[in-house]
Amino acid sequence: MDCIFCKIVEGQIPCHKLYEDEHVLAFLDIGPVSRGHCLIIPKKHVARLDEFGEAERPIGTAVMALAPRLGRAVAAAAGAPGVPGAPGWNLLQNNGRESGQVVDHVHFHIIPRQEGDGLGFRWPAGSLGADDAAVLIEAITGELGE
Ligand code: 5GP
Ligand code: ZN
Repeated sequence: MDCIFCKIVEGQIPCHKLYEDEHVLAFLDIGPVSRGHCLIIPKKHVARLDEFGEAERPIGTAVMALAPRLGRAVAAAAGAPGVPGAPGWNLLQNNGRESGQVVDHVHFHIIPRQEGDGLGFRWPAGSLGADDAAVLIEAITGELGE
């Protein structure tokens, strides 16, 4: 399979490794949007998070155990010269080209944030109407199942 992150997991392509255990690998992003930007990936190839199922539960557990730990560490260490760490950070996970996903192997970005760093989503908040909320609840919980 021609997957760049699988090649990193297999050691065929180098990475700047931060952490590794049975289920996950974390390494610095090659194209950081801020200093300390890194990625957590499952070692198993899964293209998108919505493909996670019961078999991937231990991977999900490992990712979510690592995310706060690595987030704390990166935020503490990510400051530029004269900047003591990063006071905020984002955990970002993209699914599908429409969302910004480029690499089709699940990955979680940890992105250190500074005041006024110019990063962020456009966030054109609307308002939730009661009628559409009812429609959405029925549709989503119907899809969700047990
Ligand atoms: P996406 O847009 O798919 O959520 O993010 C993919 C991320 O993977 C990007 O931030 C990109 O810089 C990073 N990336 C792509 N190829 C490599 C690579 O070979 N090594 C590392 N360390 N990061 C990569
Ligand atoms: Zn892969």
